Amino acid sequence: MLTIDKHSFKKAYEKKYLEINGEELSTGSNYKKYEALGNLVRDYVAESWMNTNKKYNSTGEKQVYYFSMEFLLGRLLGDALLNLGIRDICNEALKELNIDLKDLEDLEQDQGLGNGGLGRLAACFLDSMASLNIAGHGCGIRYKYGFFEQKIVNGSQVEVPDNWLREGNVWEKRKNDKREIVKFGGEVITQNINGKIKFLHINYEPILAVPYDTPIVGYENETVNTLRLWSAETVSNEFDFSSFSRGEFLKALEYKNSVEAISQVLYPDDTQYEGKMLRLKQQYFFVSAGVQSVIRHFKRHGGDILELDEKMAIHINDTHPTLAIPELMRILLDEEGLPWEVAWRITTNTISYTNHTILSEALEKWPVDMFKKLLPRIYMIVQEINERYCTELWNSYIGQWDKIAHMAILADGQVRMANLAVVGSHSVNGVAKLHTEILKKQEMSDLYYFYPNKFNNKTNGITHRRWLIKSNKELTYLLKETIGDSFIKHPTDLEKFEIFAKNKDVQEKLASVKRLNKEKLAKTIYEMKGIKVNPDSIFDVQIKRIHAYKRQILNCLRIMHLYNELLKDPNKDIVPRTFIFGGKAAPSYYLAKKTIELINSIADTINNDPRVSEKIKVVFLDNYRVSLAEQIIRATDVSEQISTTTKEASGTSNMKFMMNGAITIATLDGANIEIRDEVSDDNIVIFGLTSKEVLDYYKNGGYLSYDIYRSDIRIKNVIDDLMNGKYHYDNNRFKAIYENLITYNDEFFVLKDFDDYIRAQEKIDYLYRDKYKWQEMCGINIAHSGIFSSDRTILEYATGIWGTELVYKNLK
Ligand SMILES: *Cc1c(COP(=O)(O)O)cnc(C)c1O
Repeated sequence: MLTIDKHSFKKAYEKKYLEINGEELSTGSNYKKYEALGNLVRDYVAESWMNTNKKYNSTGEKQVYYFSMEFLLGRLLGDALLNLGIRDICNEALKELNIDLKDLEDLEQDQGLGNGGLGRLAACFLDSMASLNIAGHGCGIRYKYGFFEQKIVNGSQVEVPDNWLREGNVWEKRKNDKREIVKFGGEVITQNINGKIKFLHINYEPILAVPYDTPIVGYENETVNTLRLWSAETVSNEFDFSSFSRGEFLKALEYKNSVEAISQVLYPDDTQYEGKMLRLKQQYFFVSAGVQSVIRHFKRHGGDILELDEKMAIHINDTHPTLAIPELMRILLDEEGLPWEVAWRITTNTISYTNHTILSEALEKWPVDMFKKLLPRIYMIVQEINERYCTELWNSYIGQWDKIAHMAILADGQVRMANLAVVGSHSVNGVAKLHTEILKKQEMSDLYYFYPNKFNNKTNGITHRRWLIKSNKELTYLLKETIGDSFIKHPTDLEKFEIFAKNKDVQEKLASVKRLNKEKLAKTIYEMKGIKVNPDSIFDVQIKRIHAYKRQILNCLRIMHLYNELLKDPNKDIVPRTFIFGGKAAPSYYLAKKTIELINSIADTINNDPRVSEKIKVVFLDNYRVSLAEQIIRATDVSEQISTTTKEASGTSNMKFMMNGAITIATLDGANIEIRDEVSDDNIVIFGLTSKEVLDYYKNGGYLSYDIYRSDIRIKNVIDDLMNGKYHYDNNRFKAIYENLITYNDEFFVLKDFDDYIRAQEKIDYLYRDKYKWQEMCGINIAHSGIFSSDRTILEYATGIWGTELVYKNLK
């Protein structure tokens, strides 16, 4: 922990400001003040960063490399201050300089290099690894443009490029001496050297991979790990000059652009597979650079390649980095000269894989032609992996051709990444109990029965440092006041709060913390949207990617229904509610964009209807991202987790809400089940089809949405309202939603779950009226949220998958 007092902090800050701006502090803009603070904090981190690396090199402890196409970090300043243990000192020192720390924190651009849950999980994991003294590092892509910025114009989503590096990035350090070459295209020839066959990759196009390192600061433990993000550049500038002299400047520029395109943009879709060549290039680019660099590092510090799997673990976050398997094989075979069997043992022992989805449209499958052309040597290796694996299958499943074809890595002219990931790793984990069961028994059952020992569950988690301590200071203060601060290092100690949840005095305090956070959010809503919301109303929140399976449409239909009820009976006795939405739609996802339009039309209609203005309001907050999530979640009363059962592998916002004392209304999907198991049915509101019922409908049919439309007048009315001009003068604006629900038979059982959902919402209304009881429920949720800290998840990965448990114990 950094020891520094307020006075010396103030001095150091003034000095840093002068140094980088060449002017006095009092005259500068807030942005300059933010920059100076960021630079100062980075200086504080630098020494621990160096010492951590030194320690890792000298002890030779096992290193974990977490490979992920996405890292959704959000802002870093607040967390760095918290983890360094100097947040309060900094706050007070700045106050004396008439600077509000919060104003500076708000100027930091979110680092938004991810779509949603998967990328945020990677960020939470980095925080937990560093805070638990685990030598775990991230490896990914330094996208020049992060996830697009969303603007709502006339009720529709408009995408604006996220030029997050425009003002620079104080956290990253470019490492020119750690560059790697990644090879695309060309041919492979074989040479016979002293009776040994050698594979030579020739005529390839070399791409330069340049790493940018970001420090990941552990919580008050002096551990600073590294997130290494790779940027694509042309190998030499001479190329440009020689072309220029031949008058081919534009061609050279074009080439430069085509190379840099590899790390230009994040694909903005989290659930749809796109067979685009650029995406495959991105995947091989960062995986090849990453694997080469960790092996180079390992060998430079005297590592024996035969012990690689004892000294490092490579974890692949979903199938996106699966090429780490053939890439590691390539290095072990072609560069280290190891025999196949030895290389294969090392590779499979090194690599582990997390599956994130059972949505079949998200399964990555590359056309063989494209794959082979772009990665000729890697393709040969995948072919051999497949051949050896299929031989094993033939021996086990004699004559069962369908089964073997289904399990193969190469089939139907495609490379199936999920099968390759399972075959080439020693561990395959799902992200919540139900999801892992569905993987084992349904989606990957053939692979599971062939490799039963590889499959395991690791229920997701969230870092309580960002999602509670940093983002909800008032609640953290109340918790410290009641149960002490042991929960900071041991989040399951939050259980101590359970007895206080029954205490009226504490309930009052809990209510006023929530009330304060709601007032702040109400202010933000007014600033962003010009809508006045009542902080005494129930804040009912659904924030997440917009997707049919997450069922924002179900939420819409019940708001439309409630509106109908209120119009029928203006005196209907309900607790006032504010419905808050946020989330981005993939730019090519038509139905999701229509859903945003529907929410905004409902908001326009209801918010401008004086008959209901005391009772309900609807708000869509633009540009949902990590920093906005932090503001919304601490102010939420009701957390909407209403996905079609079986479809949401885990969910993580459900955990964030619970930890901040919201009551969850949920289907029995993903980690909602485990939340229910923690808090019991008395402290969560469950509704909807069970996974068994859903799987049965998918298998045997028997669901007709039209029958429900015809037989339930409430449903008929709201569905008709989609098309009768009630919410928009253009009657056809929501036709796609209507057709999805009626014409195409409602794939996600929105109408089927409607009735139960309405009843569950009425129960929420009823529960909220008993103020003390409600706060008791909130307190119980907080008390049982500790198990959903990503510290617990990471300890399970460390002991159950990576084999780094001894190191952790030694350091504890
Ligand atoms: C936590 C988080 C998510 C994941 O939300 P789910 O509701 O679990 O899908 C997505 N985006 C952001 C910005 C988050 O913080």
